[in-house]
Amino acid sequence: MVKLTFCGGAGMVTGACYLLETDTTKVLVDCGMFQGSRFSELLNHDPFPFDPTTVDVVLLTHAHIDHVGRLPKLVKEGFRGKIYATSPTLDFARALLADAAHVMRSEQKWEGTEPLYEEKDTEAVFPLTIPVAYNEKVPVAPGMTAVFHDAGHILGSSIIEAFVSEKGKERPTKVVFSGDLGNSPTPLLNDTTVIHEADFALIESAYGDRMHESHKETKDMLEDVIEETIAQGGVLLIPSFATERTQELLYELNELVEHGRIPKVPVFIDSPLAIKITEVYKKHPEFYNKKAADLVRSGDNIFQFPGLRFTPTPEDSKAINAVPPPKIIVAGSGMSHGGRILHHEKLYLSDPRTTLLIIGYQAAGSLGRRLLEGAPSVRIIGADIPVRARITRITGYSAHADQRQLLAWVEPMRMSLKKLFVVQGEAEVSSIFAQLVRDKLAVEAVVPKVGDSFELK
Ligand code: ZN
Repeated sequence: MVKLTFCGGAGMVTGACYLLETDTTKVLVDCGMFQGSRFSELLNHDPFPFDPTTVDVVLLTHAHIDHVGRLPKLVKEGFRGKIYATSPTLDFARALLADAAHVMRSEQKWEGTEPLYEEKDTEAVFPLTIPVAYNEKVPVAPGMTAVFHDAGHILGSSIIEAFVSEKGKERPTKVVFSGDLGNSPTPLLNDTTVIHEADFALIESAYGDRMHESHKETKDMLEDVIEETIAQGGVLLIPSFATERTQELLYELNELVEHGRIPKVPVFIDSPLAIKITEVYKKHPEFYNKKAADLVRSGDNIFQFPGLRFTPTPEDSKAINAVPPPKIIVAGSGMSHGGRILHHEKLYLSDPRTTLLIIGYQAAGSLGRRLLEGAPSVRIIGADIPVRARITRITGYSAHADQRQLLAWVEPMRMSLKKLFVVQGEAEVSSIFAQLVRDKLAVEAVVPKVGDSFELK
């Protein structure tokens, strides 16, 4: 018997965690943190719906915290098996988990909340890890083989195929985990791998109900927003996710500056985490697409251009205030959930010359989402701030596939699929996408809830 249990990431975007088990083997795919509103953060403290000591193996699709954020908790509670992932995923995870532990420690100081784990717990994860290459058959457990394919979502991100053999069955059952699917083509990454056949598949659906702007429009829109903000003598604030969004933005800014398409103004990357993550990008050009790899080989430093300054220390960060506008500040966190962006938002959101540019997903309940929905005033670090800034959004920088791309990814598998599980989306959005799959592809599509189990037969 092959059984699949949804331990997170079902009826919600975050907390991805799926248990695939047979009579003899338990494999966990991702072990992500719940993020967003206060309620879902409390969910992280709930016990796992399985005994961590009985799990044999963990496979990681990619390093975003909603896919790896509960790993230290898993190890703390007795998991001693192997963890398989690509090398960029492991390098990112080391930086991102340490950062998560650090953020939880400061939250404890300010809000009295109990941290899920500490920095030493994050270090205990890495002796268990084994790096894997794309397209290689990895025997992960007795009767189970996995193959990682490029998902084109962030550097090293993977779609995972799991092949489960059962006694008396001539052919293994193939289960595909989409992880997060990319918004291809992107400046740095290869396109999302097409999977041609599967018995069962899980597909993310963060943007299952909408379409992004095209890539050409995206770059033009960025250019326009920068020019308009500079013309007004304002500050352009870009809350950015440390992984992929910041590096893509740097790549685009590098091109806009080098081709003289935008005036030279100071650009600050004000995020110690994004700076660390950018170092990991520099370390793994073998995971770039051909165009980006060729650029690097020709000697262009794609993450450096005139006017760009990295500000790792708190002193560097504070010094940004003294630089007169116009200026561009890229800072984390991506959903204005915490981090240095809050200090800049506190300072500049009340100024009508400011533009706040949203380029990533904003979870329900986050400050970023409230700003996007037009909140007239917001509370930031103990102060009520009237919002007079222009709030604008470019969806083309999303690292996620949109509805059309998601549907196109399922299509080649439609004849073989026995069931499609639509996950990692807000419940309503997942339902809209599941209905579309049933209507357009005649594939049985379900939206599981956390705690649901299915026998895969
Ligand atoms: Zn992701």
